[in-house]
Amino acid sequence: MSASSICIVQVVLPVPLRRTFDYLVDKKTRVSPGMRVLVPFGRKRKQVGLIIKVSNTSEIDKNKLKYINQTLDKEPLLAKAHLHLLQWASDYYQHPLGEVIFHALPVLIRQGKAAKIRTSFRWQLTAAGQATETASLHRAPKQKSILELLQAHPDGLTHDELRALTGNYSAPLKALAAKGLVDKKECHEQAQARYPEKHIQLNAEQSAAVNSIEKTLDKYQCVLLDGVTGSGKTEVYIALVRQVITDGRQALILVPEIGLTPQFISRLQQQLGARLVVLHSALSANERLQNWLLAKLGQAPVILGTRSAIWAPMMRPGLIIVDEEHDLSYKQQDGFRYSARDIAIMRGKLAAIPVVLGSATPSMESYQNVNDGKFLSVGLAQRIDEIKPPQIRLIDMRAQPMTGALSAALIQAIGKELKHNKQVLLFLNRRGFSPVMMCHQCGWLANCRRCEIPLTYHKHKNKLLCHHCTSQRPVPRVCPECGCAELLLIGHGTERLTETLTDIFPAAKILRIDRDSTRRKGSMNALVDAINAGQADILVGTQMLAKGHHFPKLTLVGIVDIDRGLFSADFRASERMAQLFIQVSGRAGRATDPGLVVVQTHYPQHPLLQRLIQHDYASFARSLLQERKSTNLPPFSYLALLRVEANQAAMSEPFFREAIALLADKKHNFETYGPIPAPIAKRSGRLRYQLLILTNERNEFRRHLGNWCRQIEALPSAKKIRWSLDVDPQDML
Ligand code: ADP
Ligand code: ZN
Ligand code: ZN
Repeated sequence: MSASSICIVQVVLPVPLRRTFDYLVDKKTRVSPGMRVLVPFGRKRKQVGLIIKVSNTSEIDKNKLKYINQTLDKEPLLAKAHLHLLQWASDYYQHPLGEVIFHALPVLIRQGKAAKIRTSFRWQLTAAGQATETASLHRAPKQKSILELLQAHPDGLTHDELRALTGNYSAPLKALAAKGLVDKKECHEQAQARYPEKHIQLNAEQSAAVNSIEKTLDKYQCVLLDGVTGSGKTEVYIALVRQVITDGRQALILVPEIGLTPQFISRLQQQLGARLVVLHSALSANERLQNWLLAKLGQAPVILGTRSAIWAPMMRPGLIIVDEEHDLSYKQQDGFRYSARDIAIMRGKLAAIPVVLGSATPSMESYQNVNDGKFLSVGLAQRIDEIKPPQIRLIDMRAQPMTGALSAALIQAIGKELKHNKQVLLFLNRRGFSPVMMCHQCGWLANCRRCEIPLTYHKHKNKLLCHHCTSQRPVPRVCPECGCAELLLIGHGTERLTETLTDIFPAAKILRIDRDSTRRKGSMNALVDAINAGQADILVGTQMLAKGHHFPKLTLVGIVDIDRGLFSADFRASERMAQLFIQVSGRAGRATDPGLVVVQTHYPQHPLLQRLIQHDYASFARSLLQERKSTNLPPFSYLALLRVEANQAAMSEPFFREAIALLADKKHNFETYGPIPAPIAKRSGRLRYQLLILTNERNEFRRHLGNWCRQIEALPSAKKIRWSLDVDPQDML
């Protein structure tokens, strides 16, 4: 074949390599960037890839190139702007483009399935069918009954409806169609849904917020909606989304992983009066594909989802909202370690649309962006109906008699609320029964053999579990070291706290909500329903219960153990602790009854606690930012973390030595710290190390990181270990 009759496509594949692959295509085949192709790759004869460029040249000798097998799409699956965003993300996070793109696609698309909206059909009577007397079909009773049904349903019936109404319908339906009496009409399944519109009158503060944000609706602007819990941020989102969709454009709303409850979805649906498609990991592969396509084709005015929904394609993007923007779940913690919040901001810039970040406890990054004039700040300072923030009481545990994990003062406070028929939430961010098992005789600790950290005793399962690697062990009857039978359970988890409460308040209905009690699909929703129906007096929960929920009967929140958050090696720990504290506290007194928060601590004078009880997150944030500035930590500097996992300590040394040498070569303003063992020094049998890289010049940093990654990828010492780079790491574990 002559050179002029072929062209070359650059294809990305879902492989962890920082490069693209060239293939030949006959010029008669229509190809363009964003289309999928099947290509031979390695030992695989047919691998799904995606074209990112079409050209006439290749750096590789054309005789060595292979032909693609076939194209999979007639139209580009990803628009140019979307490819651009993915390319940016790949560059910024130093993650191979192929993996980034395939990560952003629904599973069925990755597998090469057709990108086709599932259509369903409605059967209706034709004019001939309408004119037919059903009595004339008396010899075909099944046909007669279907004809009667369709007469009674002039809008037609779907296959599902026909099956429900008449059972086996297909043969008689076919017969009716052959006679020209019935006909099918295509309908988009989801397009049928209609929800009654319900408007809430915004209060003055909310209206002012909407007014200032709506001025930005036709351009890029990032807005920080800084509103206390219960101030009605969601209503502000809804008002903005309404405007955008009325304008024929699409809105994308991101919520944290646990925020996507059916209650929240139906609240949005009811008030938007628009079709809402959801995108999250609990959907079936087919549902995901369908919703993704509806978004891509512009048939979904509102797209609601968790982290990965940031990759939803949109035909007519108009607005992106990130609720609880500070939430850690927006950062993917393995593989492609992106931040959906930060991608949202870049996406807004590229698409020239506004991005609204909402939170009662904004991240330091967002505050600093406001200070730098990059974000517009809009505040909501009042709770709806001027409900007062909960009163906060610190309990000095040093002087308190304890029952289990509970001080006498907290027990008394719980008893008082129960007497008034109110709900109480006890917050303890530790599941299981007790976090440590120790021998009373010799001090032996039940540790995970693969991670070298204490195992948590789970009474319900009667097992010792490792919360890092999820391995399990039976509970020993005697100490394996000295044979002593007295094994102590030290510390309290949610299981043990529930047991203590049952002893103290035997008549109370107690619900425990943590990852263990909500593992089954739908169980979280069932628990939330039970709480709302008043079928619970005391809730014992981890952070799953801290955020987003609105329980009107809940008046008391007890924070059982705040001290763990006060002292930590991670520089973000106090920010996280303050955010969690405010989120949990915000659950108390959300309706008419005033709320009370009781905090158990051994450090009542701790300056962080003192500031939090003043309800002054903003002043807390100001002083935290001062601190970060003087220590040159984010948001005043930028971090990347090179993580290494090795089977033996010796294997990581040459890799780090060479990697650091390559970086130092550049003579740029990077500082490196380490390598040091990671705070979780061992996981699943592998040793973990990390090297922290800090810079004040982000753009230059980014350019060099790209080269650096390609260089270290090629190091022979890199083959002996596992490495990954985390850009803007959110935890250092
Ligand atoms: P946030 O997200 O800021 O914590 P929400 O948006 O969940 O607050 O609002 C808290 C409660 O107040 C919800 O039950 C909501 O329906 C109600 N609400 C919000 N705005 C109004 C309003 N303008 N008038 C009446 N009720 C409102
Ligand atoms: Zn012992
Ligand atoms: Zn382990």
